[in-house]
Amino acid sequence: MPYFSAKSYNQEQVMQINMWKKYALGAFTGLCATLFGASSFAQTLVMRDAEVAKMVQAVDAERLEEYVYTLAGFGTRHSLSERAEGRGIDASQEYVKAFFDALPAAKAGRLEVVLDRFTVPADGRRIPEDVELANIMATLKGSDPQDDRVFIVSAHIDSRALNVMDRSGEAPGANDDGSGVAGVMEMARILSEHRFPATLVFLIVTGEEQGLKGAEHMAKRAKAEEWNLVAMLNNDMIGNSRSSGTELADNTRVRIFSEGIPVAETERGAAIRRYTNAENDSPSRQLARYMKEVVSAMWISWRSN
Ligand SMILES: [Zn+2]
Repeated sequence: MPYFSAKSYNQEQVMQINMWKKYALGAFTGLCATLFGASSFAQTLVMRDAEVAKMVQAVDAERLEEYVYTLAGFGTRHSLSERAEGRGIDASQEYVKAFFDALPAAKAGRLEVVLDRFTVPADGRRIPEDVELANIMATLKGSDPQDDRVFIVSAHIDSRALNVMDRSGEAPGANDDGSGVAGVMEMARILSEHRFPATLVFLIVTGEEQGLKGAEHMAKRAKAEEWNLVAMLNNDMIGNSRSSGTELADNTRVRIFSEGIPVAETERGAAIRRYTNAENDSPSRQLARYMKEVVSAMWISWRSN
């Protein structure tokens, strides 16, 4: 679980920071593309869009750096960390919520910001006792009342040390996942200045390292409220230069992970998939391909695969 301290950056870490600034742009371009794109994720010829280009230009590397420094400065953002002034998960969440609240769109009532609290019962594994956690949700309601589509961009704010149960040790989590939270903050800042027909949710989950607790709560809520959720773009370790699974070190590419065979596939769906050899054509895969197309069109010097 690699992370680095906010205070002492060596040269390699500085390079890492520079890389995720670039990656954040890539992820951002992909999101804009998706929002402006066709209602299905079929492969289409993507044209450079002037409004998207303007939004991409607005991404501010210095702001991104400041968000990450601030997030890492809370020492630890472990989901079970102490509630203290300037340290721990609560203080870090207050910082991000205050950031959303201060955006002009929030002040104008167009961006609704909530701390969505929920209780996670003890599970005998990574949750030793019942605990109250919270997601931060900033919702930019769509401008078209006929369009009920919802898009989520997310990242997890909680961090961890090598020992996942260490709730008090240093865990600045600059890359995992301060980088993702910074990306979502910057996307919210820029996108909330615009209007979109569909609804956008900027989501900062917690409890990821304790077993995806915040995401699970969000999924239950979306199901209970019958959201027409068409895409969720999660950002974890933007710009990390080494893959933990494959040890591949290639910091010139954006890696997009997407579901192939759906986890919640029905018998009939599985039969159709086998009959049509469509194991690589899930909506997630199509969305990932679409993002690749757009990033290529919008970010000329960017390599994506
Ligand atoms: Zn992570």
